[in-house]
Amino acid sequence: MGERTVTTFPLMGTLATLCVPGAVDEAVTLAVARTLRDLERRLTVNGPPAARAGSQVEAINVAAGDRAVEVDPEVYGLVRTAVLASREYRTSFNALIGPVVKAWRIGFADARVPDDAEIERLLALTDPCDVELDDGRCSVHLGRPGMRLDLGAIAKGYAADRAADVYREHGVDNGLIDLGGNVVAMGSAEEGAPWRVGVQSPGAGRGTVLGSLALRDASAVTSGVYERVLEVDGRRYHHMLDPLTGRPFDTDLAGVTIVCASSMTADLWATIAQCGGLAVGVAAVEAQPGVEAVFVTHSGEVVTTAGCRPLFTLSA
Ligand code: ADP
Ligand code: MG
Repeated sequence: MGERTVTTFPLMGTLATLCVPGAVDEAVTLAVARTLRDLERRLTVNGPPAARAGSQVEAINVAAGDRAVEVDPEVYGLVRTAVLASREYRTSFNALIGPVVKAWRIGFADARVPDDAEIERLLALTDPCDVELDDGRCSVHLGRPGMRLDLGAIAKGYAADRAADVYREHGVDNGLIDLGGNVVAMGSAEEGAPWRVGVQSPGAGRGTVLGSLALRDASAVTSGVYERVLEVDGRRYHHMLDPLTGRPFDTDLAGVTIVCASSMTADLWATIAQCGGLAVGVAAVEAQPGVEAVFVTHSGEVVTTAGCRPLFTLSA
């Protein structure tokens, strides 16, 4: 393997790693990093007030129940996609789950288990039909006070696609963009070989892979119930919430890796496919053209959809 240019920096609550075969102009790497950080600034709903000051999504949230907020066309496009997807996949993906996410705070130091009454009250504020979208003005109005948009399940995928665009605009066609398990494999690795992307083994420590995917110009996005957890009284709670119950998805699935040309779509489906367990997830992904997946159950069973089989190699 020849020389690679690798850059790592914190982003969106995780670590971003940019890897390009051979040398790459530092100005290109900086342009990609700047694009990613700028997206984080405009989209974040996490962190201290200062971190959210530049967030257009947070501005929409603050005005919930009060008024419509105009945002830039790019942010509007992403919010619109997330809201329409929430209306379509409401029982699995719902970007209006924000009030419930905020109550649990899984992944943060002050995480806790909300009681039934609180969850019940907050679920009433998660209806994606209570959002008014104005395509002409690029404005978003959350209809009830207390509603909150949370793009956490789609933002990294969108950002990874934009990072790849910036590389290509600068004439870099081959590279690996990894935003904390949200991977875009651009072009190919050395000598035209596909990029090899590890599929993490749930339960085992970070870095233990159960297999790998051979990818060219494709994205792989993993969401696992082992990613960010809160442990209380011997029970483990993870950060992907069932929009119907307001509690973490509780199925036979430990993790799903979605493969798709668009990283944003892969990110979206990594959440959709978690709902309902293995059989429901496999059927849903098989029915969706251009979306493939590797499913891993808590008992260690690995199931790949038909289109993924030629790409996936199980570790020895
Ligand atoms: P990560 O890559 O950080 O593990 P995911 O893509 O799996 O994140 O999305 C999880 C995040 O999305 C949560 O931290 C929360 O902010 C939000 N979220 C949780 N449950 C849902 C859901 N059912 N639909 C949409 N967003 C969700
Ligand atoms: Mg996701």
